Amino acid sequence: MRYGIFSDAHSNIEALDAVINGYAGESIDRYLCVGDLVGYGANPNECVDRVRGLSAVSIAGNHDWACIGKLSTDYFNPYAREAVEWTAKLLDGPHVRYLESLQLIFQEDDLTLVHGTLDEPAAFHYCLDEDGARDTFNVLAERICFVGHSHVAGIFIRDAKGKIRYTTQTPIVLQPGYSYVVNVGSVGQPRDGDHRASFCVYDSSESSVAIQRVGYDVALARKKIIHAGLPEMLGDRLLTGR
Ligand code: ZN
Repeated sequence: MRYGIFSDAHSNIEALDAVINGYAGESIDRYLCVGDLVGYGANPNECVDRVRGLSAVSIAGNHDWACIGKLSTDYFNPYAREAVEWTAKLLDGPHVRYLESLQLIFQEDDLTLVHGTLDEPAAFHYCLDEDGARDTFNVLAERICFVGHSHVAGIFIRDAKGKIRYTTQTPIVLQPGYSYVVNVGSVGQPRDGDHRASFCVYDSSESSVAIQRVGYDVALARKKIIHAGLPEMLGDRLLTGR
């Protein structure tokens, strides 16, 4: 089975369409979305439509929940909060109901999806280093867990002795007895210094994981954010991927 796994589209339809095009030659059997379809960008309804159009299984991110009033924005920064309030006004009934239907965890065969960390999925912790990854490894029953949330693409690898290391070099081939926490990066608002949209291909038959990047019309996505009256900073950061 070849999985197309992506996260954090954040209402950036230009980036999401580029990723869907990027998957075109990859013979994907099944699409999985690791949350945060909405929040920050100018096209929330369109992004929900695209993900549904792929028949993707999606789980909930903190922005998805915040935009439908299921999570307080007390811990959101002012830019994120403003985007949540803007998005909540724009989302219409069917899209709200879709976001309401998203679960926090999805499990299938040898993989699990969670937006933040698997130990406390509703707390939306960031998995930023080996210690953060350990919280997920400690409760991970499957071989591989795909996460998002930090918008930084990379892979935590736990060997058979329990030692955890981190790599941003892909593709990797999964080793017997090892387990993996794969941050697939962000489609619509990368923060690892590469402004291009991030997406992942997992081939469960070949046991390989690759994280790829694809360029998109950043200038247009930024312009739409500014024209929508959203904070300019949310458009500007797309240019640098920070
Ligand atoms: Zn996010």
